[in-house]
Amino acid sequence: MPIQVLPPQLANQIAAGEVVERPASVVKELVENSLDAGATRIDIEIDKGGAKLIRIRDNGCGISKAELAMALARHATSKITTLDDLEAIMSLGFRGEALASISSVSRLTLTSRTAEQAEAWQAYAEGREMDVTIKPAAHPVGTTLEVLDLFYNTPARRKFMRTEKTEFTHIDEVIRRIALARFDVAFSLTHNGKLIRQYRAVSDSKQRECRLGAICGTAFLSHALAIEWQHGDLVLQGWVADPIGARAVTDLQYCYVNGRMMRDRLINHAIRQAYQDKLGDHQPAYVLYLTIDPHQVDVNVHPAKHEVRFHQSRLVHDFIYQGVISVLQEAGAETLPGVSAQAPTERWQPENRQAAGGNHFSAPAPARNAGSNGGGSGGGNGGGNGGSNGEGNAGGHGGSNGGGNSGGKAAAGWQHQEPGYQKKEGALYRQLLQTPELPAAREASSRPVEPKSARAQPEPEPTLSGHSESFGRVLTVLHNDFALVESRERLALISLPVAERWLKQAQLEPGEEGLKPQPLLIPVRIKMAKPEREAASRLASLLQQMGIELEADGQHITLRAVPLPLRQQNLQILIPELLGYLAQQPEIAVRQVAQWLARHAVTERPHWNHSQAIALLAEVERLCPQLIKSPPSGLLQYVDTELAMNALKHE
Ligand code: ADP
Ligand code: MG
Repeated sequence: MPIQVLPPQLANQIAAGEVVERPASVVKELVENSLDAGATRIDIEIDKGGAKLIRIRDNGCGISKAELAMALARHATSKITTLDDLEAIMSLGFRGEALASISSVSRLTLTSRTAEQAEAWQAYAEGREMDVTIKPAAHPVGTTLEVLDLFYNTPARRKFMRTEKTEFTHIDEVIRRIALARFDVAFSLTHNGKLIRQYRAVSDSKQRECRLGAICGTAFLSHALAIEWQHGDLVLQGWVADPIGARAVTDLQYCYVNGRMMRDRLINHAIRQAYQDKLGDHQPAYVLYLTIDPHQVDVNVHPAKHEVRFHQSRLVHDFIYQGVISVLQEAGAETLPGVSAQAPTERWQPENRQAAGGNHFSAPAPARNAGSNGGGSGGGNGGGNGGSNGEGNAGGHGGSNGGGNSGGKAAAGWQHQEPGYQKKEGALYRQLLQTPELPAAREASSRPVEPKSARAQPEPEPTLSGHSESFGRVLTVLHNDFALVESRERLALISLPVAERWLKQAQLEPGEEGLKPQPLLIPVRIKMAKPEREAASRLASLLQQMGIELEADGQHITLRAVPLPLRQQNLQILIPELLGYLAQQPEIAVRQVAQWLARHAVTERPHWNHSQAIALLAEVERLCPQLIKSPPSGLLQYVDTELAMNALKHE
């Protein structure tokens, strides 16, 4: 057979194989188009499970007459124009394939009117070449897509359609998922002429919970714990069921990334991990919305866009984990039978991401982010869409899309509050203040630094100057490793690697409750010599206190969990070294282990930049305030400016 270009209809039918699996996938694509068009009301009519008819009517921006034929063509979209746009997608669609694909496997008519047009137009594509016929029609501003006889010309696909009832159940599920993503949009769903669902547009939180209850059931609602968690650009909102609720509610996992529904293993894993062993074989139940800088996700990994790829997947994973675990902890002991009945404010919160100098997620977000949460992300979404739509669509939908568009919309209307991390900061503070002096502090310089009362501020901020006790203001970083700080008109040099070691040691001090073990995504199996294996079993309880979980099997040990401060380490190397060290110690205290780990769990860093230095010292101030009063000489040295000044005076 000679090589030939496939006729458009056949090419579209092949493409349809990827996105149009069943009636529910048609409904998903069409409703997403309506949302991208800024619709606030979407009516869905289904006949015979969608095999006979799928009709979606919206009050969005509509499509102009000149662009109707284009909308049905393959690779035609108003949502992106360049590859760069693909890197920051906020609209739900962007592939420009859905209408072409659907219309190649059904009898599809597209009727639409824009606000600028006095009349509506209807387009219909047919034949091998998919020639489009356009004729006048009656329709208000907005769009109606009518899909008749799905798969009439693709018998192989038709065979895969299940009963009317099953197909409708799938459609119902798609609408539930979308209705959870967009509380601000009204949806109605009709089957065989009967109104099955009606979700009214809601704005306040009470009404939102009503819709949540209508969709997820009262069992979920009564066990739902609301989440509001933010770190910089990352925002997590929504609800998780407490562990008891999770047992009562099965199969309820709704997850959205920038308003796009997802089945994401990473997110599910992070949530499961937060519940730890509270669920047994049960799955956690949740409805969660993650808002993230669109540059940080790749949505173009799956034709039906069910999956995304996060550029910083570990960060996202830990962020979600932290958000969920903190809400579970705050919910208190009666919902978490395995957790001690301590007030959440007094709970030890292990530190995270020591590579960056501390737990980003439990540190207060910079002031500019606070309060701008929902508004910020929502606004960004709308703007982004408006921009790309406008560009791609000369006389088209740009303007009207800009306002009402977008994925992250669910987040937009939400009033975020400051997440509860400051409480934990207070707890850490107190706990460390009570901790006796760290060993090396005994060799501290005899010249105490006076507290910088002049710079003290009532509100804690993540900057050095925010604490009443501070090393001072970081002026610059010298010779890669030394921060030059100014405090009460004195200059000092602080060794950043030494500061980091102190911080790590503080993070690794197990305290009374011990460090919390964090299960590894993939357990590490390492072959070990006998003395190391013996040390591991002899000191098992000490290691457990450090949050390190090991399991012996023959000549190997399997590392299952480490505390958060060690997660970024090369564990294949660190753990055997640790066991080698322990094997040589007939007796050892946890504090020595923390000290050893702090020295050996180093982060390779060729040089420190200014903001890293600020972040690090802020964490040291927070976790090791005693170092400010009496800084050890290896950490801080004053610079003799008097000498220089005198030299200048004699000129
Ligand atoms: P995509 O959504 O990936 O851009 P589609 O094939 O789903 O591709 O739609 C093609 C184009 O048709 C869209 O980019 C949009 O401009 C337009 N369109 C589709 N449905 C609607 C609608 N309901 N309202 C307004 N415009 C629409
Ligand atoms: Mg689309």
